[in-house]
Order: sequence, then structure tokens, then C-alpha cells
Amino acid sequence: MTDLELAMSRTWAEINLDNLAHNVKILRSILNKNSKFLAVVKANAYGHGLTECSKKLQAIGADWLAVAAVTEGVTLRKNGITLPILCLGQADANLAPLMADYGITQAVGDFKNAEALSDYAEKSGKKIRVHIKIDTGMSRTGFLWPDDEKGKISTANEILKTCRLHGLFAEGMFTHFAAADDDRDFTLLQLKKLLEAEKYLAGMGQNFEILHSAASSGVTDYPEAHLNMGRFGLVLYGYASTVTGNAGSSLGLKPVMTLKSRITAVRELPKGSTISYGRTFRLERDSKIAVLPIGYADGLHRTLSNNYSVKIHDTLCPVLGRICMDMTMADVTDVKGVDAGDVATIFDGDLMPSAAKNAGTIIHEILCSPSARVPRVYVDNEVLRCSLSD
Ligand SMILES: *Cc1c(COP(=O)(O)O)cnc(C)c1O
Repeated sequence: MTDLELAMSRTWAEINLDNLAHNVKILRSILNKNSKFLAVVKANAYGHGLTECSKKLQAIGADWLAVAAVTEGVTLRKNGITLPILCLGQADANLAPLMADYGITQAVGDFKNAEALSDYAEKSGKKIRVHIKIDTGMSRTGFLWPDDEKGKISTANEILKTCRLHGLFAEGMFTHFAAADDDRDFTLLQLKKLLEAEKYLAGMGQNFEILHSAASSGVTDYPEAHLNMGRFGLVLYGYASTVTGNAGSSLGLKPVMTLKSRITAVRELPKGSTISYGRTFRLERDSKIAVLPIGYADGLHRTLSNNYSVKIHDTLCPVLGRICMDMTMADVTDVKGVDAGDVATIFDGDLMPSAAKNAGTIIHEILCSPSARVPRVYVDNEVLRCSLSD
């Protein structure tokens, strides 16, 4: 058995790197010509495979990558990624040696944290690159940009002090929108605050090479927010909206991930049988049931029990009863010729909206769901292959 056959023997995620490249091309054409293209590959590239996606992104000319954890950046460096890497999440100062040694640019949002990074850098004779994070309304991390004049001057001074730490090089400044997909006024207010912070700092002699604010919906819906760089997450993977599903198709984006499962058995069960734990589904007719080797431990949300349909032979087949840790049952009574060994599509571009909606979540979370047990196989230049490094 080849590695590829083994990977595709149970449940696997097919990752179409050609579609990823297609999406980058489309998104580039939307982004201001002089803005840099940052691809967000945190969380295992939204479940798509950190290293393989990053290698493709590097090969097709992304300018930057972004991760959430310094360790994700280290993995990329060890796998030959030479692009600038921004760590978006504020990191413990103990990780300063990794930032310095692996050349990872770090987001900083408070002076104390920045000072500790700088102390390490100075002692080791290195510089750590940082991007100053401004909290303009997300209330997560960053220097809080206040409304009153006195507060603004004092915050600007705090930022200036941070930028002047000897072990740091303050290359960029940025913010993150809290509601770019549904609150225009608030988003524009956030942008205004970032630009104001920039103006105050410029007045004090502190300029930044890269000013950035927009993630996916920021870039697609607010041209004025492109600034020097767009941070592309969800849209890279083919979806333009967190909730309304495959709206990515209106931009011509193509979904990158398809989650597949190879049917274990097709069983005939009599009317009246109850399916799975808790007996939450009772057959109302003699039925044909496909047993799928996928469960919540693989990333199929248990909240989709009795509340979702998978695709088998291009037909929607309802999930019956509770999703188990490792197996799930689907009704194939009306599907002709289904057999053990056939492939079921668990999520793809068509199914993703109902998966997110019925699970009560957003597409981001569904994409991140396939667990470590699920092998990723890649379509690259139309050739299917296993991961070489993930
Ligand atoms: C995750 C993240 C992004 C990407 O968000 P999408 O909505 O997926 O495009 C951009 N910037 C920051 C700071 C993030 O944390």
C-alpha cells in the first residue's frame, strides 16, 4: 500500500493548493497595488496544513505570513520558509530567543512585555522586529487608544517609549477590526483611531514602514483600510463570509478543503431499529445505513447529530443518530449502488454553510476542526500527493 493509499483509507482532508493559488491571484487583484499581501496561516493554516500551504504561498509570491504562536513560526523556519513571519498573538517574553534566532516579527501591545523582549535582545546582541498593536475597539490586545486628548498624548508617549527600546526595531503598527462584516460605522471609527495614532506618533518623529488594519472582510469591504498590507485569512481558503457560507463564490474564490471519508459498511436495518448512542433516531422504514469512519474526534462536530447531511454519490444523506467519537451513520436508503469503500464527502464548499449554521458556529471553526488524526492530502499542479512535511 502506498502512503497515499494509506492516507485515503479512512478519513482525510483533500487540500487543493491550486485553488489556494487561484484565490491568492483573485485577492491580489482586489488589494491596492502597493499594499503587501500577508497570508494568515495560524492554526495549521486554518486546518489546511501549515507547512504545505506556506510553501505554496511562498512559491506563488505572498509577501508575508502570519501565525498566532511563535512555535508555529519556528516550524515554518525549520521547513524552509524564508518570508517575513508576523506572530499576531502577544507572546510570553520567555520566547524572545526564538523570535531573535528564527527571525520572527512579534506583535507587541504593552510596554512591559516589549521591555522584556528588548532586554533579551540587547543582552544577546540581536534585534527583535516588532509591530505595535493598537486596541481600537476589539478589547483583546494592544495599546488602548483612548478618546480624550490627554489620554492620546500619554498613550502615544508609551508607544514611543516602546519603539525606542534598544533591542527592538519597530517596523509596523496595526489594529484588528471587531465587526468588519457587519458594522460599518464602528469599523470606520476603528480605522480612524489607528490613523490618528499614526499621526500622533509621526508628530513625535516615529514613523512605521508598514501600517495595517484589514483582515478578510476588511480588505473585501473597505478599500480605505488596505493601507500598506492586507491580512488574508478565511478568504484565502475560499470563503468570503464567516456566516453566510460560500459567499466566496461571488468573488470567484474556490474552496480549498474537502473532507472525505471512506464508507466502512452499508447495512440493511429493519424499521424500528434505533441508531447510535442514546437511541435518538428510530427508523421509520426498512433502511440502508452507511457507516462512516469519522466522528467528533476527527472533527465532525457532535452538535451535527441528527442535524446534517453528507454527500454520497452526489446525493445528500442525512446523519442519523448521535455522531460517535470515531463513527457516524448516514441514511443511504434512496441512493443506488452504494457500497463499502465508496467515498462520502463530509464538508466541501457546498456543504460548509450548513455545517457552520447547524453546528451553531462560523466557517473558521469548521475549517479548523479536522484533527491530527486526519491526514491531509494535497492536490498540487493537479497531482495528488501526501504531505511531505506536515
Ligand atoms: C486571525 C486574524 C486575521 C485573519 O482573519 P480572517 O477573518 O480569517 O481573514 C487577521 N488579523 C488578525 C490579527 C487575526 O488574529
